[in-house]
Amino acid sequence: MTVEKIQFFNKTVELVFDGSLESISNWGDISKMIVITDENVFEAHQQIFQSFKTILVPSGEIHKQQSTVDKIIDDLLQLEADKQSIIVGVGGGVVTDMAGYAASIYKRGIRLMQVPTSLLGMVDAAVGGKNGVDVGPCKNMVGTIYQPDVLLYDYSFLKTLPEIEWVNGFAEIIKHACIKDANMFTFLQGKVLADFIKDPSLIATLVEQNVKIKLSVVLNDEFETGDRKLLNFGHTIGHAIENRYDLSHGFAISIGMAVACNISEEINQFQSSNKLSVLQLLQQYGLPVQFDFDPEKIWEILILDKKRNNEEMGFILLDAIGKGKVSSIPLQQLKDLLNH
Ligand code: NAD
Repeated sequence: MTVEKIQFFNKTVELVFDGSLESISNWGDISKMIVITDENVFEAHQQIFQSFKTILVPSGEIHKQQSTVDKIIDDLLQLEADKQSIIVGVGGGVVTDMAGYAASIYKRGIRLMQVPTSLLGMVDAAVGGKNGVDVGPCKNMVGTIYQPDVLLYDYSFLKTLPEIEWVNGFAEIIKHACIKDANMFTFLQGKVLADFIKDPSLIATLVEQNVKIKLSVVLNDEFETGDRKLLNFGHTIGHAIENRYDLSHGFAISIGMAVACNISEEINQFQSSNKLSVLQLLQQYGLPVQFDFDPEKIWEILILDKKRNNEEMGFILLDAIGKGKVSSIPLQQLKDLLNH
């Protein structure tokens, strides 16, 4: 088990690779811990949860809403959680987003441990402290930035992860490769999903590499005033598609990346051969790159995006594979590009 201490603006995060939920007592008194997990994760790992007070939330993005967090807070009060209590988020991104948010607001902030159990959660959602809920159709509209005290990786959870969720996770891995790491992009080109599913050490190494990429971006810009925006590659269009068409996060982001590649080619001289390589890699990992969406429907959501600044939209383009760029596109131009 390797433990690294990562210094954020106002918190030190202990990063534990190759840990186990059972070993979590090393980081606090179990009697003070309250696990938040969802029904699927609980069902698949019931035994592990026996030692913990547990708050169960329903599974799925549709429940990532303020009403679920209100219920979590009611449950925390019922359990007499106090300032010494520790919330332990054990689940995919939906759970860790809500656990982080609840920990940041309950009694104005209590201790937090995150144990991501989906691949997407491991490489992305649980890393960097962003949390929150959707408001109606608008993704992640309300939330805080609140680092966990401990971010613990227990790869044994991946044994029960459905294959489709592996595919979803690879959307964010490919995103990291596109914006920051051309070598990882080439490495991924030489593999297929099944290689990672059947080889625990291969996936562990890839997860660690991705956590380091995300951390390096976040540590330079914890509160997203600049480069952290790079992590939104594919997400502006992707989030709008996710909400309008009920697609999973990874699938929607994959389609969003494909559109962002097209736009990068049109207005940023991103080479067409590189665009094809990105599309090919996404497909190689089972991700969609085309979707017949109605631009008008997408536009209605897009203009509510947090990255909109009056008449411009913050948008991530690619200069090359491994080199993302924070940019801004006038709304009318973006609308025209979408209608192409
Ligand atoms: P999710 O939490 O809905 O998990 C996907 C599915 O897998 C769910 O049905 C869940 O119950 C199940 N699951 C998770 N782990 C499992 C396991 N080990 N065994 C069996 N089933 C398991 O979704 P996700 O893809 O993990 O995360 C997507 C969410 O993350 C979105 O809400 C997105 O907005 C958010 N996100 C947040 C950030 C951030 O920085 N905070 C970054 C990226 C994504």
